[in-house]
Amino acid sequence: MDIASAARRASLLGALETWLPEEEVPAGGFVSLVGAGPGNPELLTLRALRVMQRAHVVLYDHLVARELLDFVRRDAERVYVGKVRDRHALGQHEINDLMVRLAREGKRVVRLKGGDPFIFGRGGEEIETLAEEGIPFQVVPGITAASGVASYAGIPLTHRDYAQSCMFVTGHLKDGTMNLDWAALARPKQTVVVYMGLHGLDTLCAKLIEHGMPDSTPIAIVQHGTQPTQRVITGTLKTLPAIAEREKPQAPTLIIVGGVVTLREKLAWFHPQKS
Ligand code: SAH
Repeated sequence: MDIASAARRASLLGALETWLPEEEVPAGGFVSLVGAGPGNPELLTLRALRVMQRAHVVLYDHLVARELLDFVRRDAERVYVGKVRDRHALGQHEINDLMVRLAREGKRVVRLKGGDPFIFGRGGEEIETLAEEGIPFQVVPGITAASGVASYAGIPLTHRDYAQSCMFVTGHLKDGTMNLDWAALARPKQTVVVYMGLHGLDTLCAKLIEHGMPDSTPIAIVQHGTQPTQRVITGTLKTLPAIAEREKPQAPTLIIVGGVVTLREKLAWFHPQKS
């Protein structure tokens, strides 16, 4: 980081201390489970920034943008624990044990996760262990992929003319199947957001049609949402599997199903590839 950006950062943090003086940081070990947002560093919260500035050690995931690590206190230890689909640097138990051990050493630990830690992020499992071990912790929410990615793709998740509800589901279950409540997902006037769904795209489209969703229902795949490499691929339940086969979107991708997807034609505002 150059001097100008370091000075800018220092002044931002100074301003933060003045506007929002923080309650006392407890002495001894402490874990902060922090949501890093969907990848664009500006979508980090001020609270996350402050906690990252106080960290002794940061355990971060694959989905956390590398630029975000520049916001971590310079002398903090950075440990990559993240997983790329089915390839884990550390298993979940090892991550849990590591957090407990570091906190017992009296360290301020930041567990930095993509998006929001409580949405398909196993945040609940991680702090369950901390609670059982009597380690004090806090949770700092982040902008979840559904919300960040939909905004940057110009797709409102609800809209009075198209969807009165919105469901978040995961397309990747623990046992490798995609065993979802298809009848509930296929209901009209609803938006369905699928995390980790690209590998199951064919099944997703086929099952939704089988359970009564018109095959003309619009659907979008958003690659690298909120980031300079964002790409949005749209089609219908019938056409998208073949389009995706051709276009080969790169992970991470989010899938959005429902009438709201058509609004993008009017509302798309973020065109990173053109700039
Ligand atoms: N806790 C995270 C989700 C973790 S699951 C959150 O709240 O966002 C990981 C999945 O999130 C990815 O497989 C992908 O489906 C989605 N995802 C995360 N960041 C994304 C991004 N920038 N663009 C598209 N999808 C994203």
